[in-house]
Amino acid sequence: MLKKLPFFLPLAGCRGQCVYCDQRAITGVRAVPSPADVREALRGLTGPREICYFGGSFCRFAPQLIKEYLDCVTEYAPAGSTVRFSTYPGDLRDDALRGLVKKYPVSRIELGIPTLDPAVLAACRREADPEKIFEDIKTLKADGLPIGVQMMIGLPGQDRESSLAGLRALAALKGADSWELRLYPCLVIEGTELCRMYERGEYRPLSVAEAALWGGEFIDEALEYGFVPIRIGLQETESLAAEVAAGPHHPALGELILAEASARRLARENPRGPWPVPRREMSRFTGHGRFGVKRLAAHAGLSEEEAARLVEFI
Ligand code: SF4
Repeated sequence: MLKKLPFFLPLAGCRGQCVYCDQRAITGVRAVPSPADVREALRGLTGPREICYFGGSFCRFAPQLIKEYLDCVTEYAPAGSTVRFSTYPGDLRDDALRGLVKKYPVSRIELGIPTLDPAVLAACRREADPEKIFEDIKTLKADGLPIGVQMMIGLPGQDRESSLAGLRALAALKGADSWELRLYPCLVIEGTELCRMYERGEYRPLSVAEAALWGGEFIDEALEYGFVPIRIGLQETESLAAEVAAGPHHPALGELILAEASARRLARENPRGPWPVPRREMSRFTGHGRFGVKRLAAHAGLSEEEAARLVEFI
């Protein structure tokens, strides 16, 4: 896997602003780097990289500008470099634009699909037509473009079942393909519409514990369907820490979610134990007040001490 070189293009290309989003606050990047800025940053690099354009809707730029950003990868990055970008699901509906993108070494197109529930999409002020999203994904699949999905939990009006229904619908579409998955539990960022909803009492954010359990169930199912989770929770930055008004903001939220996912799987596969756990996953069970052991005990109907005795690190 190539080393990633991310460029954040905060809110660039976005038609509106989703209620929960402020990419400038999340990333700490205020100005959108131009293709000239990207070329400058690539100067003198050795060894191929995965150039990443994140933080906006990449394929909503004018085609000429998209081409300029993509040309940076093939003409200015070291040989063998690839490109990954995040965009809205419908942004590649246009045949000519897909034709352009396919000329480049695209390693992954990350589609923002926080939910497929029309009511939740509307509450988030996102385009609200799941059928169109399915059609758009089928088109990308037919063209052999590598897909990743960015999903969320804890959105306004969203419940556990609605998020899992969305995941299952995407899994059916995915089939045997290898799709990457990022899962972002919703945070309330200062200055966003969601923050105003929260202040008016119209939105209740998840607690850390709720996000860990919901996210764990979500990731457990996603793994069963063959998704490849590459990120859980927003990347911690100084800017993010300063801008979170409420919600499940915790430095180890991803680890707690993975602990819950592991506990669910172990208890399901072997309800009585013993449970072999790879040493690299040990902290899921021993860290954070033995969160993984506690969850394993809850799922298996045992005491914490009994569950702890049945976990074997291998
Ligand atoms: S969530 Fe994505 S589409 Fe919505 S405003 Fe943020 S970057 Fe733009």
